Amino acid sequence: MKQQTLLVRPHAPCPHTGEIVTAIHPSVIYALDELSSTKGNQYGRIANDTRTALESVLMRLHNASWGIATASGSSAIFMVSLLLGAGDTLLHHHELYEGTGRIFHDVLTPFRVTAVCTDFTDERSLEHQVEELKPKLLWAETPTNPSLRVLPIATLARIAHRNGAMLVVDTTMCSGGIQQPLTHGADIVVESLTKLLNGHSDVIGGFIGTNNDAIGKRLRFLTQTTGPVLDPQQCFLVLRGMKTLTARIRAQQQTATVVSKWLRHHPAICHVMVPGSAGREEQQIVREQMRGKGTLVSFLLANDRDPSAFAKKLKLISISHSFGGVETVIQHPARMMNREKTPTLSPPSEQLFRLSLGLEHPDDIIADLKQALEQ
Ligand code: PLP
Repeated sequence: MKQQTLLVRPHAPCPHTGEIVTAIHPSVIYALDELSSTKGNQYGRIANDTRTALESVLMRLHNASWGIATASGSSAIFMVSLLLGAGDTLLHHHELYEGTGRIFHDVLTPFRVTAVCTDFTDERSLEHQVEELKPKLLWAETPTNPSLRVLPIATLARIAHRNGAMLVVDTTMCSGGIQQPLTHGADIVVESLTKLLNGHSDVIGGFIGTNNDAIGKRLRFLTQTTGPVLDPQQCFLVLRGMKTLTARIRAQQQTATVVSKWLRHHPAICHVMVPGSAGREEQQIVREQMRGKGTLVSFLLANDRDPSAFAKKLKLISISHSFGGVETVIQHPARMMNREKTPTLSPPSEQLFRLSLGLEHPDDIIADLKQALEQ
């Protein structure tokens, strides 16, 4: 079955009622057959049919045999980081969601886990560091945020596996609809459902997928025990949002292409970044591991332009955190990302903006940018 069909028709109609839309099951308690019953659902934190329905679609989307829907992308990241213990090292690329950085460099500190930040685009130096530091996990986000560089998942997986490490890929920047890291060798995929996957800016949620039974079992245990599970109402909204994922991605990617081309020719813009814009080699990686270039475009305003004045003049495009929704939003990484706890090799430029393209007509988005760029 094609991904597009899977997302629209994730389940057969209910054999009892004929319902096509997945039902919301709010009950957290279940009447058990007998005192020592272990049959069926036992308690809402442990299992819930709406959550199980969502997890089964996400597992198929990511080609995973284990899938866990969590209360946020951040809790998915935290659950995976709990696979590490005292004395373990984690190596991550220097461009990282700042909240993930805070988990690695602050929350994990009492667990005596060492997090090391490096450059995953330099294959040789990465291999060297992996041999030397012997990390248990390599952690990458691709495309990176905010410069939209693409990291080669298959190469990173080879480096990790040669050295006895596991590769975790956060695919939030483009969602499982565009990129499925497990099929390129990653051991664990995480995704914030809050972004493109749900797409309507009205749910906070996360997902972890893996094909490693021991890891899957452990992650399920950690989530059931510590409790950051996604509640059934939110699961329902994500299931509903996912039905239009393919159509949204198609339209939003088209708009991103149109807008990035327009920005490239504007005299007030000195550089435009999209996945693949770093060169031929990166374009090849995009073709291998992504279906399209995603819905984000980053750009640098010319040095004689004031970033605050430009942003203030925007009328349709909202200045906002997050990305991947149906509404076009813009973010200024230098002032809006709290990188206090996240080491980085180079802080973002004051002239840099990240644009997340939504479903408005591209002409209206361009008209808004145009009037805001007028001096
Ligand atoms: N991963 C990435 C790449 C993100 O950008 C974010 C949030 O912006 C998260 C994870 C965290 O997701 P959530 O906000 O659902 O906790």
